[in-house]
Amino acid sequence: MSDLLPGFLAPWAVFAGVFGLHLLLPARRVTGYVRDEHSGELLRYRLNGLLVFFVTLGVWFAAGRSGVMPWDWLWQHRWSGAAGALTLGLLLSAAVVLTAPGRGGDLLRDLYLGRRVNPRMFNGRADAKMFLYLAGATLLQLNLLSFAAHHFLVHGGDPSPGIVLHVALFSWFVCDYLVFERVHLYTYDLFAERLGFKLVWGCLSWYPYFYAVGLWSVADLPNPQAPVWLGVVATLIFFAGWTLSRGANLQKFSFKRDPERAFLGLVPRALSDGERRMLCSGFWGLSRHVNYLGEILMAAGLALALGRPLALGPWLYPLYYVALLFPRERDDDRRCAAKYGPLWERYREKVPWRIVPGVY
Ligand code: NDP
Repeated sequence: MSDLLPGFLAPWAVFAGVFGLHLLLPARRVTGYVRDEHSGELLRYRLNGLLVFFVTLGVWFAAGRSGVMPWDWLWQHRWSGAAGALTLGLLLSAAVVLTAPGRGGDLLRDLYLGRRVNPRMFNGRADAKMFLYLAGATLLQLNLLSFAAHHFLVHGGDPSPGIVLHVALFSWFVCDYLVFERVHLYTYDLFAERLGFKLVWGCLSWYPYFYAVGLWSVADLPNPQAPVWLGVVATLIFFAGWTLSRGANLQKFSFKRDPERAFLGLVPRALSDGERRMLCSGFWGLSRHVNYLGEILMAAGLALALGRPLALGPWLYPLYYVALLFPRERDDDRRCAAKYGPLWERYREKVPWRIVPGVY
């Protein structure tokens, strides 16, 4: 029990630290895409995710180096840590939902999907959704490093290069999100979701622990002696996915801010109803959600990188993406059909593929 409690509370401490750093460290102030539901004004944000992330990693590194906390402490306490994050996620989800006025609907639905749209804290100094993503990303990175450290401590004589590759690619994924934190202000979670169990528990518990499921399942095992070409294929798939996902997100971000501005040298082509416009060139001419294909490819690359293509554990992560993003595309399609009407119909005709060009 005495050993379980520190593990249980570790995610609470990490999130508290991340929150404190987010409030205290300097941040750039930007105008977002979402409007305040009462005033109609565009929301303003303080963004300092990358700085908070590196300061937290620095603290973890200093603790490991000085021997205060073994490098693989989070691995050793992964079960109690996951339980602590799960509990905190549940408590905070309930608190966020139950302290907000009801929407006249089903309580269970409210608990899952939320009531508040974009709650802010400390007079707008912190945005709840952006903090949650930052907290989840930071703990995920700490878990990945600690799980990999465990592998090196146990199999230091012949470590698996696949684990190094997996952590390197995953670190790229996490840092990429933080580098482009501003682009996230233009995404579905920010403009279409409310804050309930799905987002709160998802960011605080699912994101930092489930996303590490591949490494969790193999960190204890010896080097699988995977061929080098498998690592090369995994890297190529990962970066093909990254190009699609990041490219599409940046192209849309650029288009929403200035519909005339060229992206990667290409002048955007758009469908218009005289008032609104739908981008239909570049990434957005390949399929209507080619960014989702990119996310799934990145996840597949991460699974393959571990060098055990026949093990189930690493594939749980890409399978989860398929389960998440295929229904999400349907939801977004319905939302856009309702919002854009005939313009969306024209976009559907012009770009018939939902996610995978030529296939689906
Ligand atoms: P999108 O970035 O695809 O955003 C969809 C919205 O973009 C639509 O609702 C519409 O909003 C607008 N839009 C759609 N088509 C067009 C078009 N042709 N021209 C202009 N605007 C268009 O989806 P998400 O917000 O869901 O995802 C954002 C990113 O986050 C993606 O890369 C996704 O893969 C990633 N993601 C990552 C997850 C993870 O766990 N790593 C989980 C979920 C998503 P509007 O009404 O504003 O026009």
